[in-house]
Amino acid sequence: MRILPFLIFLSSFSFAQTYFQQEVNYKIDVSLDDKTHTLSAFETFEYINNSPDELNFIYIHLWPNAYKDNTSAMSLQQYRNGNKVMENNSEVDKGFIDSLDFKVEGQQATFLYNLTHKDIGKLVLNEPLKPGGKITVSTPFRVKLPNGNISRLGHVGESYQITQWYPKPAVYDKEGWHQMPYLTQGEFYSEYGSFDVSITLPSNYVVGATGDLQTESEIQFLDNKAQHTESKLDSILILSAKGNNFPKSSSQVKTIRYTQSKVHDFAWFADKRYHVLKGEVELPISKRKVTTWAMFTNSQANLWKNSIEYLNDGIYWYSKWNGDYPYNQVTAVDGTISAGGGMEYPNVTVIGGASSATQLELVIVHEVGHNWFYGILGSNERVHPWMDEGINTANEIRYFKTKYPENNEFSNNFGGVADKIHLGGISHHCGNHLTYGFSANNGKDQPIELHSNDYTSLNYGAIVYAKTGLVFTYLRDYLGENVYDKAMKAYFDQWKFKHPQPKDLQKVMESQTGKDLNWFFDDVINTTGKIDFKLRRVRKRNEGGYSAEILNAGDIRSPVRVDAYFEGKLVETVWTESTEDFGVLDAEFNSTQIDKVVIDGEENMPDVNRMNNSWEKTRTLNKVEPIHFEFLAGDNESDKNTIWWTPIVGANAYDKLMVGALFHNITAPKNKLEFSVAPLFSFGNSTLAGIGDVHLNFTPARLIKKMEVGVKGQTFGEEILISDKSPYSFDLEGRSSLDKMLYWVVKPYLFMELGNNRERRRFSHNIELQYIWARSVSELQTAETETKGGFVQYNFNYKKRKYSLESNLRVDLLGDDVLSNYSNSFVYLDIKQAWTYRIKSEKKIELRMFAGKSLYTRSLLGVENDFRFGFALGGQNGTQDYFYEQFMFGRNESNGLWAQQRIENQGGFKTVSDFGFSTNFMASANLYAELPWGPIGVFGDYGVFDNGNKLITAANAGLGIRLLQGNLAAYVPLISTSNIQNSLTQKEFIQTIRITLNISALTYRNLLGGVN
Ligand SMILES: [Zn+2]
Repeated sequence: MRILPFLIFLSSFSFAQTYFQQEVNYKIDVSLDDKTHTLSAFETFEYINNSPDELNFIYIHLWPNAYKDNTSAMSLQQYRNGNKVMENNSEVDKGFIDSLDFKVEGQQATFLYNLTHKDIGKLVLNEPLKPGGKITVSTPFRVKLPNGNISRLGHVGESYQITQWYPKPAVYDKEGWHQMPYLTQGEFYSEYGSFDVSITLPSNYVVGATGDLQTESEIQFLDNKAQHTESKLDSILILSAKGNNFPKSSSQVKTIRYTQSKVHDFAWFADKRYHVLKGEVELPISKRKVTTWAMFTNSQANLWKNSIEYLNDGIYWYSKWNGDYPYNQVTAVDGTISAGGGMEYPNVTVIGGASSATQLELVIVHEVGHNWFYGILGSNERVHPWMDEGINTANEIRYFKTKYPENNEFSNNFGGVADKIHLGGISHHCGNHLTYGFSANNGKDQPIELHSNDYTSLNYGAIVYAKTGLVFTYLRDYLGENVYDKAMKAYFDQWKFKHPQPKDLQKVMESQTGKDLNWFFDDVINTTGKIDFKLRRVRKRNEGGYSAEILNAGDIRSPVRVDAYFEGKLVETVWTESTEDFGVLDAEFNSTQIDKVVIDGEENMPDVNRMNNSWEKTRTLNKVEPIHFEFLAGDNESDKNTIWWTPIVGANAYDKLMVGALFHNITAPKNKLEFSVAPLFSFGNSTLAGIGDVHLNFTPARLIKKMEVGVKGQTFGEEILISDKSPYSFDLEGRSSLDKMLYWVVKPYLFMELGNNRERRRFSHNIELQYIWARSVSELQTAETETKGGFVQYNFNYKKRKYSLESNLRVDLLGDDVLSNYSNSFVYLDIKQAWTYRIKSEKKIELRMFAGKSLYTRSLLGVENDFRFGFALGGQNGTQDYFYEQFMFGRNESNGLWAQQRIENQGGFKTVSDFGFSTNFMASANLYAELPWGPIGVFGDYGVFDNGNKLITAANAGLGIRLLQGNLAAYVPLISTSNIQNSLTQKEFIQTIRITLNISALTYRNLLGGVN
């Protein structure tokens, strides 16, 4: 939603209004039919208008309609995030709500559906509802339950997850109405009130629900179940391997009743297979006792055996840190959920499949924690998702640090390959730092304060959860635990059962701590500004003690903690507050014995570059962390400079087999200086071959998301056809031959990802500048070529639901410096558009258009058409790849399989013919349509070019096979114009198959870096 400045102006008036909150009290009778998977219900709610406004209508959410078809906001968002369950599977069990018949005070009332969102409607009141007034609304309703794997509501077989299921008024607050469609990525905002819900279902179902169970016989039923599970736990664990089938539903039905006040939602879960464990926890402040329930099936019984402990510990610590749990019970149920690892509802949480007991504990504690940050403190989750998810994550990080200070429990979480690549021993806090760093150091981050639907799916995790968790941990470290807890408890006391806004939290925090926290709430929460402090120098003071000079190398004027150590023990901690001007801060230590100084030694601050944080007396280079080798890949550990290595082999037609190793420091969070180098021994040439790249990463956070400045290079063998027509400086003696060459390429470059990080956008754009120096020398030193030049390329990409566009505009400048009088420059525009259509599975129709014009061509030798520098109708072959942009297996082959490889660029004709070359002008259009069966498609090419004398046209069509997203492809031309036909040097059918192999797209750096 875009906000108009005028509305902000208006809202500055409404801000002065006193706080008010509406109240909704529900009574619902519902029965479950587990044959047809439907709910039949009757709802009555009392709506109390505490606002100063007269209301003429009430917005009502009908969220089961999100599952109706693929036009719902939920389905569109899932599609955008790569989940096509609603889109692709016409057989998937969809859902909806119907049979509505709204009455207000017993009188028929008009109900209008929102035209865009079928899951929102407007109940028009027959008479305006006055401030302070109250009305009773009633309606029957029926819900067809969707497949429980789509999002949060539904059934998996006869296991029921009944959430966001009943007609529910939207929140009306000082900002007006907050009607919202149901989303998977983006949660809710609801009015407080009370619930009185009676559920009728076959009597052998076990139910976990919001509220206090009022039905005596059901209390007995659950207690019996709990006793049975407790006494038979060992045999359940053994039996759990023996399937998880649903028992037959009882022909008897039961009606069970729950009531609860001061909550804003009601959910229930029913499964006939549930084992039940019951526990109790004493609250730390009031000493009141809370009952805990765990309900689980055979499938993960071994993980759930200690689940009561996780529930009790979660309730205890959250109460201690934030304020006592105000309700009587907490239930966790085992269920299939696709909206993340678990989902919270008041008093009851549903937990998805876990990979280990620790992960189960993590999810249970997180979901139980939502009783505070969502349940009791009812912020608007849709608009400020960090207020519940992020602060909850901070508590969860603290829980793991408190319960497992040695971290050895958490390290069991991964195992296998993760252990090998070093992720095994990582703490929960570190895991969050890594997730945030992965996004931030790649320039992909977004601010913490953002509407949940504006996040990319990466950042919904990396920012809303991880970064917010980290920054609140940092704030706690800065304020100190006592002060922080006092402030958090005051926030709890002032805002429990209400709707706090970010400003309300800031106000409480500042008044309780006496600190100006604008740096936190304005800069850390509202921007993508990075935190990076650098240790400049440490010196001994004349007056005794030490002084450390800290440079703020980041974007935020935040306080920074500096720790001093002696013989491995922390001896002194100093906090320095950043001053108005960025720049240098001094941390003064009184200790006389210090051998190590570390910025943020406990790693509580989300510092994006921890490689510049330490000074050690005994190191040769005091500020440089020691170099350390590790196998393959791993996370970025701040106390050492790790270089990862792995043996590799390669091959091409000239070097034959190559053997060597790859060394790199590509990791997460990304290093500022990043490199990868792969020296190889070439058996074909008995010499060194290989590739390398070194660059600096910047994330300026304004206008440019990410910048790389660096240089890359490669050296391999090739063969060049030497003829006396070629403009090379060597004595040919009339000879024309293929000569074995070695080439070196050095390419300094600048890459900039443009844009700001605020919102998720449909488009992205970047600029790349590259200079090239390439030298190729023949083995016998009889020939050499040198290419110098550069290019600038602007890329613009746009992506919509069923359409995408990739376009690039590029200017090349080239000089063949040996002759120093031969130069070219080209400009070209390349536009590729793709439409997705659906016949059985997703297929694409792709239209590519290319136009290139030479700006300047000059040759004193009269070689107008050096076959290397110009536009090739069939795309560049290896020899024409003058910037050495693509890895070619046989760069200069003129026959054999590798002569059939071309780059899919320029004219884009899918032919092996070298017909069609221009140093002046070329334009073409290429159509490719994937067929419904397998990876096959049809293509058609049309092009026109200037051959120096006149314009020539050509056309070509046939069949193609594309794999690995088109990076590996083969094309079989079936019909082409005679000019293409006639120019084929190899005429056998098999030799006319054109090959595309885009290795650059599949390189280690692209795969591991996940970007560019
Ligand atoms: Zn959560």
